[in-house]
Amino acid sequence: MAAVEPGTGALTPITVVGLSPEDEQRWWASWDEHAYLFQHLHPSVVATLRAGEPVLLDQAHSRLPIWHGSSPECTSHLLVPMQIGETLVGMLRLSDGARGKASLSPNKMAVTRSIARLGALVLEHERLLRERAQAQANELALREAQEQMDTFLAIASHELKTPLTYIKLNIQLTRRRLEKLLRKDCGMPEELSQKATLVLQEFAQTEHQVAQLERLVNDVLDVSRARSGKLDLHLKSTDLGAIVREAVGEQRKAAPSRTLVLQLPATQPVPVYADAGRIGQVVTNYLTNALKYSPAEQPVVVGLDVASNEARVWVRDQGPGLPPEEQVRIWERFHRVKGIKVQSGTGVGLGLGLYICRIIIERHQGQVGVESTPGQGSTFWFTLPLAPTKQA
Ligand code: ADP
Repeated sequence: MAAVEPGTGALTPITVVGLSPEDEQRWWASWDEHAYLFQHLHPSVVATLRAGEPVLLDQAHSRLPIWHGSSPECTSHLLVPMQIGETLVGMLRLSDGARGKASLSPNKMAVTRSIARLGALVLEHERLLRERAQAQANELALREAQEQMDTFLAIASHELKTPLTYIKLNIQLTRRRLEKLLRKDCGMPEELSQKATLVLQEFAQTEHQVAQLERLVNDVLDVSRARSGKLDLHLKSTDLGAIVREAVGEQRKAAPSRTLVLQLPATQPVPVYADAGRIGQVVTNYLTNALKYSPAEQPVVVGLDVASNEARVWVRDQGPGLPPEEQVRIWERFHRVKGIKVQSGTGVGLGLGLYICRIIIERHQGQVGVESTPGQGSTFWFTLPLAPTKQA
């Protein structure tokens, strides 16, 4: 009996019975590692076996290793296919021995085919066990790789954070000193003051780049914290309306050429029990994405709606929109949608922002989501439970 690899037709010996110990040894030794069905049998024979029909062959027809070990008197061999469904997974060979042709009575043929079917089931069972072991090994390797990546990201972001903060503070300090010097009008020659103004502009650009870098490092740091369960929240009663107003105000300053429309409810404050800094981070992320992925001339609308027990913040843009499958995947770590281009502002992004938003909102017992139609923009939203208001 030999197994057939369905994809390649590679043959693996399984067992042999009815040979003398010496012949049996010879049979095992005769198999090389690279025996293939197609190399040893005529294509018409292979086709018949694949169709599930037995084939009667004589010795001269094949150099198949499955022949070896037969006694010299053997003149014919019956090959019975072993199938799972339509797939050939093995072959059973019966040799005639010294007693004449290997043809079988219908009864014996039925028994032989049953044996072949049983053998096929055993082979399939073995294969499934092997596959499961392989899948388990793969999963383990994947988990280990992910753990290594988490460790690397945690160390890298942590180590980058300190020097980055130092650089940022130094640039700020030097810029302020220079501004003060220029304001003082301490008799600085015109040429020097022009050069200092130029340096100030360069400082502003560097500060902008450092801010981008800081945002990326903070994102990675947040992801590491979230995955190790160390994303601490500082919860207290706070006004969601104020958080949204502040985030919008910051983006209006950062992108003065853009139109940002704010729609707040008539009744304010909107009380929530939340970490104001983290919720502001979510609103800012939605806003910066809306600005980044939509054309510069299109407005972005931000709203806050209040229902009986929850508040809903939404950010609507007229960008490219997202197909349904991407509306689910964008909340995963490192996921960025192919073909969605940055239309205005900077292209820096690791695909972490929305993942962090989801973690933050879920930790507040809220929900995140997006409504979008490709070509017609997107509305990203999140909800938060309303905090009970104090009775007068
Ligand atoms: P990134 O830093 O890449 O923007 P995010 O996690 O914030 O990371 O967003 C993940 C991906 O979702 C983005 O790379 C982009 O492909 C898509 N995306 C996010 N916001 C929008 C939007 N407003 N319109 C269209 N696509 C968006």
